[in-house]
Amino acid sequence: MRVGIVGAGATGLTAGFELVKDGHEVTLLEAEPELGGLAASISVGGTPLERYYHHVFAGDTAMISLIEELGLGPRLRFHSPTTGIFYDGRLHDFTSPLQMLRFTPIPLLDRLRFGMSSVLLKLIRDGERLGDRRAIEWTRRWAGRRASEVIWEPLLAGKFGDRADEVSMAWLWARVNCRTFKLGYVDGGFDQVYTRLAERISAAGGKIELGARVDGIRQADPAGPVEVTTREGTRYSFDRVLATVPQSTFAKAIGAEPDDPLWAAGYLGATCFILELDRSVIPYYWLNVNDPDFPFLAVVEHTRMIPPSEYGGRHILYVGNYVPRDDWRYTTAPERLLERFAPYLRRLNPDFELSWVRRWHYSRAPFAQPIVTPGYRDRIPAHRTPLPGVVLATMSQIYPQDRGQNYAVQMARDVVHRYFRRSGGRPD
Ligand SMILES: Cc1cc2nc3c(=O)[nH]c(=O)nc-3n(C[C@H](O)[C@H](O)[C@H](O)COP(=O)(O)OP(=O)(O)OC[C@H]3O[C@@H](n4cnc5c(N)ncnc54)[C@H](O)[C@@H]3O)c2cc1C
Repeated sequence: MRVGIVGAGATGLTAGFELVKDGHEVTLLEAEPELGGLAASISVGGTPLERYYHHVFAGDTAMISLIEELGLGPRLRFHSPTTGIFYDGRLHDFTSPLQMLRFTPIPLLDRLRFGMSSVLLKLIRDGERLGDRRAIEWTRRWAGRRASEVIWEPLLAGKFGDRADEVSMAWLWARVNCRTFKLGYVDGGFDQVYTRLAERISAAGGKIELGARVDGIRQADPAGPVEVTTREGTRYSFDRVLATVPQSTFAKAIGAEPDDPLWAAGYLGATCFILELDRSVIPYYWLNVNDPDFPFLAVVEHTRMIPPSEYGGRHILYVGNYVPRDDWRYTTAPERLLERFAPYLRRLNPDFELSWVRRWHYSRAPFAQPIVTPGYRDRIPAHRTPLPGVVLATMSQIYPQDRGQNYAVQMARDVVHRYFRRSGGRPD
């Protein structure tokens, strides 16, 4: 079959790899000039570095098996990096259960309740049954009001902004239940995974076209080919198409009616600075900023996990945010934004000066985090679409787990198996 894949992120590239292994003629159409989507990288000191902080968890079996299949297993190393919380004007260690129990901003009894409720989340097997409850209600009831207000609610607010109150408990359950203290990183960057996938696809005769922004996916005859057009006017004809783009992009491309539920999916955008510094700023790999005044959510000092020598001696600090696309933090020019962030970085480290920043990079993605509210499962669109030759495999279909490379790989393998291997080439 001639298969067109729209989007060359983790999902599209994994699916392309699986499809060429099955002997299909594959063409990937990617809007951006680079591979990898949200997991794309830039070069820092000659080493690829993800535009947005990335690691995998020990339980990310699909991603780990892909890394191994591509011959990168020996480069995947698990680390035990440190975590902190900035609250009430201070940095607090928050890596181990013992440090959590010493977290003085909440009384001891509440700390114990927080600890017990976290253990409970680890023990609950089927977190989907919490899907209809709001996370805030659950954390207030089980972790206690104080722990909820100090620990969980700022995290939800940082991640989901004014939609935080609506977030489903199934989402928070998955964040706690499926994650491990050990974090994995491929020495030399995840970029190698995406580059190798592309190499394997090309070696098998597949094509990858960068800068090809698809704006039309049509199938006039249910038994006929699928016609795909790009904004630049190039036309393609495929037997089957796999779309891995955000729901609204897909809805637009197929000309969905205005009342089509595909349009209704809510996403937040992401913005992220990579600061290349001549010294360290925070004593942790991961710092949650639980102070509601701060204009950013997470600060990740990547070089607390991977040594600065990998990046020409530079210390790497990510400053990341999830925000609506009309928020000032999404629309402000990055030069100005960095100036506005500087005083807050100084609150994390009083010595911080912008002169420490030798170079910086800024990335912005409009569809970075689906907003998972109660009843989400019922609103997830099917992989099968109104066009019989077209399958949709997109980030917002991942549930209850938080989206991530692992789930992109798992979904790609799953849709290829379910919709491209059985029933003679038509979605069954
Ligand atoms: C801030 C941040 C931190 C993250 N941290 C982690 C982490 O630590 N660990 C982890 O595993 N995951 C992490 N993730 C999530 C991970 O990056 C994603 O889950 C994964 O990369 C999604 O892959 P995807 O292919 O499904 O989607 P995407 O990466 O969104 O790929 C979709 C592709 O489609 C392309 N596209 C869009 N529109 C069109 C069009 N019209 N025509 C053609 N192409 C189009 C896009 O350019 C993109 O390349 C993080 C994400 C963010 C934003």
